[in-house]
Amino acid sequence: MAVRDEARRAALPDSAGRFGRYGGRYVPETLIPALDQITAAYVHARKDRAFQARLRDLLRTYVGRPTPLTHAARLSERFHRRIWLKREDLNHTGAHKINNAIGQALLALKLRKKRIIAETGAGQHGVATATACALLGLSCRVYMGTEDMRRQQPNVYRMRLLGAEVVGVDAGTRTLKDAVNEALRDWVTNVESTHYILGSALGPHPYPMMVRDFQSVIGREARRQILESEGRLPDVLLACVGGGSNAIGLFHPFLKDRSVRLVGAEAGGRGAELGEHAARFAGGRYGVFQGMASYVLQDADGQVVGTHSVSAGLDYASIGPEHAWLRDGKRAEYISCSDAKALAGFHLLAETEGIIPALESAHAVGVLEEVAKGTRRGAIIIVNISGRGDKDVAEVARTEGVAL
Ligand SMILES: *Cc1c(COP(=O)(O)O)cnc(C)c1O
Repeated sequence: MAVRDEARRAALPDSAGRFGRYGGRYVPETLIPALDQITAAYVHARKDRAFQARLRDLLRTYVGRPTPLTHAARLSERFHRRIWLKREDLNHTGAHKINNAIGQALLALKLRKKRIIAETGAGQHGVATATACALLGLSCRVYMGTEDMRRQQPNVYRMRLLGAEVVGVDAGTRTLKDAVNEALRDWVTNVESTHYILGSALGPHPYPMMVRDFQSVIGREARRQILESEGRLPDVLLACVGGGSNAIGLFHPFLKDRSVRLVGAEAGGRGAELGEHAARFAGGRYGVFQGMASYVLQDADGQVVGTHSVSAGLDYASIGPEHAWLRDGKRAEYISCSDAKALAGFHLLAETEGIIPALESAHAVGVLEEVAKGTRRGAIIIVNISGRGDKDVAEVARTEGVAL
């Protein structure tokens, strides 16, 4: 029975895009044909040997995959565990986002759609999408809140260097959720010519499934690499969770391995009060937001609330539906990591292993000690380093009052 449960869990979503009561499609009627078309093309691409060969080739020769699994010798010594780092920071453009952007750009070619739109918060998904579009000769428009544009100037310029048009969104809080709304509006109008490359395992079906699959290259490699290095499966996988794509990409190929604990780190921000963090499982409840049903941070009237995190990539009021499902089923656990702990993790990894992580990834490092304490001595822990920290160096200096 248990085995069959595990197999069923790994085979989700169902044909309606549901993970239990999460997921689905909550979008205007006009988008349903496009979502059906993407689903059909994607299901075909999944089995299409030419598509898969082209994707594999680009991941190898352009992105730089496979990324290494690095033994963190000094961290291991410190915590008396065997700690390994999955090095998504070494991908071209500096994070895991490119795995999905290239996969979806290839799908757009298959759909004969030459115009790409995307949303971005910190700018990293925008940069990854602009990169994939330059590589494959697609036109690219990226929606970004004007507040985020102000905070992420270098990424705005990077996208423009890559030939993308960056469109500022002046509505609402002028951040990610407003950029998503604007991208959806564009898509409704231009759906015949346009593919929307969504940046995380979020939104209406088939995005949560499709983004998960494109990111599962992380977990497939990690599984093979740890078996080669240690001769057995890990005890724990640990990853930060914004929308949830790097975490689900690492977790998914291990879902059937019941002995492997799956731990996600959410942004605990400045405190437990609503508005001060982005820990959906700590302060959120069931709701519908931007195309899907999941946990949503909302007030008593169901209004989505503002969020805060030191890391822009984790600063979102909802979370991918598969995580909600795994959490309710107790297959995965989620803990919050405060801004302060994430900053400590940022310094710890830099000083102990010579790797400056993205502030997002630093949330996983920040809870490593706590997670290690819940395991036996010598346990094997894989931490996903979803991106590199160059983009965050100035912000950390500012936060800590260091003049550059
Ligand atoms: C965008 C981003 C994240 C958060 O997104 P997920 O979809 O949860 O992975 C985490 N780390 C880095 C480096 C990012 O760029």
